[in-house]
Amino acid sequence: MIKPSETSVSLETLVSLCKRRGFVFPAADIYGGINGVYDFGPLGTLMKKNIRKAWLTSLENKWGSVVELEGSLLAPEAVWKASGHVEGFHDPMIDCKNCKHRYRADDTDLSKGCPHCGKNDWTEVRNFNMMFKTQLGALEGASSTCYLRPETAQAIFVNFKNVLSTCRVKVPFGIAQAGKSFRNEITPKQFLFRMREFEQMEIEWFCKPETSNDFLQQWIDHRLAFYKAIGISSEKIRVREHTKDELAHYAARCVDVEYLFPFGWKEIEGIAHRGAFDLTQHSNHSGKDLAVFDEETKESYMPHVVEASVGTDRLFLTLLYDSYFEDEVEGEKRIVLKIDPTIAPITAAFMPLVKKLSEPVEKLYHAAKRAGLSVQVDDSGASIGKRYRRQDEIGTPFCITYDFESEQDHCVTVRHRDTTKQERIAIEKLMDYLHSHLTKGTRNA
Ligand code: ATP
Repeated sequence: MIKPSETSVSLETLVSLCKRRGFVFPAADIYGGINGVYDFGPLGTLMKKNIRKAWLTSLENKWGSVVELEGSLLAPEAVWKASGHVEGFHDPMIDCKNCKHRYRADDTDLSKGCPHCGKNDWTEVRNFNMMFKTQLGALEGASSTCYLRPETAQAIFVNFKNVLSTCRVKVPFGIAQAGKSFRNEITPKQFLFRMREFEQMEIEWFCKPETSNDFLQQWIDHRLAFYKAIGISSEKIRVREHTKDELAHYAARCVDVEYLFPFGWKEIEGIAHRGAFDLTQHSNHSGKDLAVFDEETKESYMPHVVEASVGTDRLFLTLLYDSYFEDEVEGEKRIVLKIDPTIAPITAAFMPLVKKLSEPVEKLYHAAKRAGLSVQVDDSGASIGKRYRRQDEIGTPFCITYDFESEQDHCVTVRHRDTTKQERIAIEKLMDYLHSHLTKGTRNA
């Protein structure tokens, strides 16, 4: 097995694979695209659903319950004033006076001159707020100003009491949310790594203050187990503690889970001890008491929060980088995505050896659909080898061929993506066989 080099599959290769095979397209592609915004095609949509499902499954844990929320994308200015985003959610921006290109000042080596024109003639560094601001309705004025959310977390905090009073939950418990966030990034780049519209999967874990440090460590361990369970190379995952001057305004402690991309170690998930910051801020700003009453001590207290926040699209990109291999099978080069079966968009592709055998294959396909599997039929006239390679390129773990012998022995050939090994399996055992391969992954988290 040859991997081009440990971290060197190029971004262009992945972007082109994503477009060619229907994973990801530039948004508004036929109009030339829009910077930092992408559409997910049929395979990308399936894979994203699987990522979300694996994430949610991994959150079920022994320390308490987790409920889900779907908050609004728009929220009034008051929410973002309380959260600190109006005041502090900005990046430092700088312009080249010569060619007018704009950069993030903390992400550019200014001493080397403008990366575009080479001149060393900069404007002052200014703060640029990254929230998308808009107006509700026809009335202008502060009362109708709102923002597209730059993170999903605040919808969880403002609904804390609603959830507590309507669901059978008690501290400690978690509220999880997967949904879109919007940031007007100064320089969106590296494809799905830094986008302007992206998805986050966040859990806010509410607990008693004296337990919060322990829970932070438990969440770090739990999240690392998740990455292992979905098959990401352990040697390319690390945890990095934030230094004091790096800490966000709300955080008492924060660690980043980082992945070794070809462009360096970069954050894929942030795990933060947010203390009582958010609930206290929203209590003060809204005038609604968000403290909880402790039945044992008969006292009110503000719960502490441990947050684990990962970008769905950034994780999607991580999975592509981590699973992309090129090797040779029977003298022919192939591209293979060795994605965990729980995440792969298609679990199995059914193939009649010749078109004449399409009918029983259709039956197998429908049985697999009824069994809840994500499957495809490839009954094109191409050779079996060519059909295998097409499936390898989109990460399908199993190719199932129905041949003339199948008519007699009621068995099919199952071909494994990673080893290319083949085995005969009885048709009546096939669905159980496929399901059993889908029960690994997040179960181990
Ligand atoms: P970065 O330092 O990379 O800008 P951040 O620290 O601002 O990230 P958080 O606010 O902690 O990010 O968001 C949690 C997660 O959301 C990140 O770990 C990342 O996976 C994802 N994320 C944040 N910004 C973007 C973006 N512009 N595009 C895609 N994913 C993002």
